[in-house]
Amino acid sequence: MNDTHEIAIQGIGGSPGICIGKAYLVDKEGVDVVRQYYLFDKDLSEEIERFKRAVDKASQELDAIISSLSGDYQEQLFILETHKLLLKDKKLYENTCKYIESNHINAEWALKKVSGNIKQTFQQMNDPYLSERGSDIGHVTDRIMHNLIGGKNHEQIRDINKRVILIAKDLSPAETSQIQLHKIQGFITELGGKTSHTSIIARTLQVPAVLGVNHATDIIKSDSIIIVDGTKGVVILNPSEESLIAYEEKKNMFERRRKSMMRHSELSAKTPDGLEKKVMGNIELLEEVVSVLDHGGDGVGLYRTEFLYMAKNELPSEDQLFENYKEVVDLMFPKPVTIRTLDINGDKPIPEMYEKSETNPVLGLRAIRYCLKRPAIFKTQLRAILRAADYGTVRLLFPMISGVQEIIAAKTLLDETANELTKEKVPFNRNIDVGMMIEVPSAAILSDMMADYVDFFSIGTNDLIQYTLAIDRGNQDVAHLFQPLHPAIIRMVKTVSEAAHKKGVKVFMCGEMAADPFHVPILLALGIDEFSMNPPSIPAVKSMIRKVNTKSMEPFMKKILEQRSPNDVIQVVQDHYGDIFQETINF
Ligand code: PEP
Ligand code: MG
Repeated sequence: MNDTHEIAIQGIGGSPGICIGKAYLVDKEGVDVVRQYYLFDKDLSEEIERFKRAVDKASQELDAIISSLSGDYQEQLFILETHKLLLKDKKLYENTCKYIESNHINAEWALKKVSGNIKQTFQQMNDPYLSERGSDIGHVTDRIMHNLIGGKNHEQIRDINKRVILIAKDLSPAETSQIQLHKIQGFITELGGKTSHTSIIARTLQVPAVLGVNHATDIIKSDSIIIVDGTKGVVILNPSEESLIAYEEKKNMFERRRKSMMRHSELSAKTPDGLEKKVMGNIELLEEVVSVLDHGGDGVGLYRTEFLYMAKNELPSEDQLFENYKEVVDLMFPKPVTIRTLDINGDKPIPEMYEKSETNPVLGLRAIRYCLKRPAIFKTQLRAILRAADYGTVRLLFPMISGVQEIIAAKTLLDETANELTKEKVPFNRNIDVGMMIEVPSAAILSDMMADYVDFFSIGTNDLIQYTLAIDRGNQDVAHLFQPLHPAIIRMVKTVSEAAHKKGVKVFMCGEMAADPFHVPILLALGIDEFSMNPPSIPAVKSMIRKVNTKSMEPFMKKILEQRSPNDVIQVVQDHYGDIFQETINF
């Protein structure tokens, strides 16, 4: 095969956007990641010391280089001296120490965040001299990071001096969330699907990604120029001059669209006939609250709370959980925060918490099943949530409920917890909305009964589709069958919505189905009361809602319900709303 021939490979669009750049192949061990982990109070001062030692070492390294350079290298000497000063710059040095302390987070992650903010500030400046200082911060950060991470991985990291496109067999959700954004333009993996957690995190980070590219690590060469179109799920190897120009233009257009969408993100999502829908953000970390607000979110519709449980060997204490939840609630105030109780195991495994490895983890001891088996762990979290609820608008959400007995058991433990807090005279608020995820088909089928026990349902389509259609959400080989507009899924959502509304129970959707503007007309017609999604998707969904008239949708819905395949459903939506999509989502 001619090596310079342009090749387009179809994968799965994991995260929209386009990037053009050099490929960088990594094996699993070589990923340029900054691990992120939670620290307990007792470990904070040692972590700050570790950071300071890494800075001191970087300073000594610079001294050694400076003394080895002769006077012929005046300019380099000047740069290195500047770097030395930057190492102890208040904004970088002190803020990183503070960040470690206030967020209980490891030094690498704190440094990444703090330096990212400084760089962004510099880069936004019009003065080319000042904007160049952003790259000095990058060099200094790399040097400190090298000392923090250590080890052989850094030999590869050091070689990267341009922003690259990462090519890997697989990236776990943890790795994806730890990618150093300033070095990664986008990524391509062989494994993974559209609603795998890797994709969800890529969308949250706004990094274009194509997943499920068979043999990517065999056919893409390091350093070759490639194009990643995360919107269409296409990767182009050996791009021709024309393709490079065309994609550069598409990339600019995408970025212009995204910016223009952002300009209207604060507007409420009110349909032309005056129906207002709340559009909320899904978060996994405290710091993502900012992103929800920046993208015009009306609150947090799903707080995935697993992160605090990822610390090694120790479970978080009630106070640690409480502080974290309270901060989210404070930052969002007065907007609501929906805190979901632990949804561990399944595809978000926390190895330390496995009692034994499971053959079928997604069908195993996950989420509410785990919590009901470990009431002490569960109650600790419930106490923290009820206490945080005293500071704002909190809703409590139980995951993976599959039948009436489970929701009763969960609520019984909630009541017991509230009684204990009352006895102990600890301030809390039990007067909160309590809801359950509809993500197991049995719960959807029984939704008329389940509605007797909750204030709201939140439909988790990522799992609901996985379990209803028997499609592993993270398996690229069946990703084409993961179809939110499958007639069975539409019927199921309809069943849930009707059953709930009959009993005055609200129906929210927090699965990724809610994040696609193309689904908005159907979801409005099905009566979804509130949408929640990865924050960057909020503006487009709001914009779409503002364009769909919900009066007289019956003929459209009738037609939809007659369709026998996802493609036929798509066609009907296209026929009715094609024009609106054209102007809203066709980046
Ligand atoms: C879902 O299953 O749709 C959902 C929102 O939960 P998660 O993606 O965390 O499993
Ligand atoms: Mg789920």
